[in-house]
Amino acid sequence: MLLEQQPDTLNDIRIAVRDVCRKYDGAYWRALEKDGSYPEAFVRELTELGWLSALIPEEFGGGGMTVTEASVILEEINRSGGDSAACHAQMYIMGVILRHGSPEQQARYLPGIASGDLRLQAFAVTEPDAGSETTRISTTAVRKGDRYVVNGQKTFISRVQQSDLMLLLARTTPYEELTNKTEGLSVFVVDMREAGDSLQVNPIEMTFNRHTNQLFFDNLEVPAENLIGEEGKGFRYIIDSWNAERILIAAEAIGDARFFIERAAAYASERVVFGRPIGANQGVQLPIAQAYAHTEAADLMRFDAAAKFDRGERCGAEANMAKLLASEAAWEAGNACLNAHGGYGFAKEYDIERKFRETRLFMTAPVNNNLVLAYLGQNVLGMPRSY
Ligand SMILES: Cc1cc2nc3c(=O)[nH]c(=O)nc-3n(C[C@H](O)[C@H](O)[C@H](O)COP(=O)(O)OP(=O)(O)OC[C@H]3O[C@@H](n4cnc5c(N)ncnc54)[C@H](O)[C@@H]3O)c2cc1C
Repeated sequence: MLLEQQPDTLNDIRIAVRDVCRKYDGAYWRALEKDGSYPEAFVRELTELGWLSALIPEEFGGGGMTVTEASVILEEINRSGGDSAACHAQMYIMGVILRHGSPEQQARYLPGIASGDLRLQAFAVTEPDAGSETTRISTTAVRKGDRYVVNGQKTFISRVQQSDLMLLLARTTPYEELTNKTEGLSVFVVDMREAGDSLQVNPIEMTFNRHTNQLFFDNLEVPAENLIGEEGKGFRYIIDSWNAERILIAAEAIGDARFFIERAAAYASERVVFGRPIGANQGVQLPIAQAYAHTEAADLMRFDAAAKFDRGERCGAEANMAKLLASEAAWEAGNACLNAHGGYGFAKEYDIERKFRETRLFMTAPVNNNLVLAYLGQNVLGMPRSY
């Protein structure tokens, strides 16, 4: 679906989100980077306006939107020069509670998340020794009466200090005792306001202003009623949320790509060197046009994946391809934009170097493009497995 052919509902979302983002301009995001602070005012306003609860059903106070619609919200944040990563997780993490939580858990958490009284922005899966091999995680949750006791370590867990609640994936059956290695993991809602010293949070300094941490669990007690769904089925629940996550990440990357292309085309048309606009030179113009073509193609895949998801159809291949193609298009557009700006591309006040750093992550996280390709090679094309 090309931009100009999109229905009014999507265009209305675009206009409304852009309106909010206008207040949080490049100067706002640059100021935050200086001392590594969180875009609190931006996230609060988006929450109050209901944009971050887009995917929560209306009966729980959310927007009851489709993934297609939600993806446009994130795209427009990034297209305007902002950074959805500050808050995107709120959109898809709660899907695990929505799909697999009990009615009691849904009633306990979802209305508070929708209203903004409760923040669920943290999702703790990755561990230093397991990396991409999630089924090898070793943080344990051992049942003791009406509680689980958690011990272990996580790494790269974002927005922990900015959240009240965290979804935690932990091992409830030792790996060696499993016949099916994708079982034995369980998902818990951890109320971090009650964690005290049993949860140690060490920030990791990153290339960009992301609030990412190492976590150490030392006999952290979690009430058994906070177990989501069945014990041992947690990996399945997490996989269920991956397609939505990939589609939303693809939309963010498309937003970045459009930011770069719009900036690049405008600058290349205005900047005069050797007596003519630099954009008249094919060395400047064609890479921007090429990135534009790749972005539009990736966007078609993103909308195809989102439409399939919204119809309840299988969309693993499309969601993975959308994430792959959109992250590559954004990186290509970032390079074309940086090149077009010459030295000014590296000057912070242009925001291009900041967006350039931010957009590179889409090729690596939440899942590396290598693993996306392996999924396509192995699960779609039926070639031998590497893992
Ligand atoms: C800014 C940031 C925020 C993050 N936020 C979170 C978060 O909130 N919660 C969370 O749980 N995690 C988070 N992560 C972690 C992220 O999801 C992981 O970095 C990612 O899953 C990869 O794990 P790894 O870094 O250990 O890489 P590794 O698994 O060590 O992989 C290293 C490289 O080897 C490649 N590789 C490995 N196996 C294969 C194979 N079979 N075939 C081909 N290539 C292979 C990978 O693709 C990659 O290029 C975050 C990471 C970053 C950088």
